[in-house]
Amino acid sequence: MIRINENYLKLQASYLFSDIAKRVNRFQQAHPDRQIIKLGIGDVTRALPPACIAAFHRAVDEMADDTTFRGYGPEQGYPFLREKISRYDYQARGADISADEIFISDGAKCDTGNIQEIFAGAARVAIPDPVYPVYLDTNVMAGRTGSYKQGRYEGIVYLEGSRQNGFIPELPDQPVDLIYLCYPNNPTGATITKTQLKTWVDYAREHQALILYDAAYEAFIRDESLPKTIYEVDGAREVAIEFRSFSKTAGFTGTRCAFTVVPDTCRAFSADGQSVPVHSFWHRRHTTKFNGVSYPVQRAVEAVYSDEGRRQIQQLQHGYLENAALIRKEMTALGYDCIGGENSPYIWVDGRTDSWQFFDMLLEKAGVVCTPGAGFGRCGEGYIRISAFNSFENVKMAMKRITAALSSK
Ligand SMILES: *Cc1c(COP(=O)(O)O)cnc(C)c1O
Repeated sequence: MIRINENYLKLQASYLFSDIAKRVNRFQQAHPDRQIIKLGIGDVTRALPPACIAAFHRAVDEMADDTTFRGYGPEQGYPFLREKISRYDYQARGADISADEIFISDGAKCDTGNIQEIFAGAARVAIPDPVYPVYLDTNVMAGRTGSYKQGRYEGIVYLEGSRQNGFIPELPDQPVDLIYLCYPNNPTGATITKTQLKTWVDYAREHQALILYDAAYEAFIRDESLPKTIYEVDGAREVAIEFRSFSKTAGFTGTRCAFTVVPDTCRAFSADGQSVPVHSFWHRRHTTKFNGVSYPVQRAVEAVYSDEGRRQIQQLQHGYLENAALIRKEMTALGYDCIGGENSPYIWVDGRTDSWQFFDMLLEKAGVVCTPGAGFGRCGEGYIRISAFNSFENVKMAMKRITAALSSK
């Protein structure tokens, strides 16, 4: 009799986005003539940059000719792409990361989900609340938690975000081995300073812990004093793995390309206390279970690093940041405290009421869809997330309607 992995039975069904869809459909049916504006799900709306499309087409043509055709590529990614990432994303910022320390993949979702399997089942895990749910659910699947009680899994150390700490959690008050951090943050849009990030790096060094740093939104940072990579912090090379993605930063959510950085100097420990290089473990996992991102996609992403590509993605990000600034400005003018929306495409609004109530109110009075903060964890209750991923026209219209609805209250 084949038994299943019972840890999956502990998982809470994720009703968030299906609940949202249900409410939106119900509203649309009741009001067929109302045009709904979606500022909910974190997916981009604008086309891939022309430089990427041109490179994509050229690479497809290479695949059509025996003399330039490519079969399996290197599992870790083509050197042409890893070298550009190393040079432009790291060396240019004074962060000492080499091409060999970079692993190209088909998504930061898979990488942040898969990374935990190279660590012990007994590893003590610290996860923020509110949070991007992948970190939590993959640790539940792996059996690192007990059951779910009152909105929490037993065995997880929750790093609580709040109004008081501006959604930058305090250091854990009990020993942990793996720490998930994400800045600029999804869902809150909060950013972390180099000094704040250094306290985490120092903590990890002192406690022989490891930081899993999700920097999927780094490209939205415009404030030059904020760290774009954790490796700008001294000492991070020994205690941090970084995840990046081209999804939100260059529009590759549907095309799929991301990467993970595992420095050679990053260490974990065997049961007998020997230090082992994490890089060789991730290398083994990645090359055993993954056969590389498609060649045309890697060429398309390479074009992100050309002069015109960099200009074009800057423009793309600039558009979303303008939306974010407008949302933040209007919500603040209405008297709501906001986090994010600067150096981030998300605005986290303190609704001073039940998350779902605020969601329903925006839908019914303004025809605007947001995401209830409670869907990201217990500490998200009372907040909503508004996403800047839409056209400027739609965002302008959405804010006009919200302003009209809320100021007439
Ligand atoms: C969107 C997102 C990702 C990743 O996306 P991929 O499309 O899988 O590369 C990773 N982390 C966070 C926090 C995200 O919001």
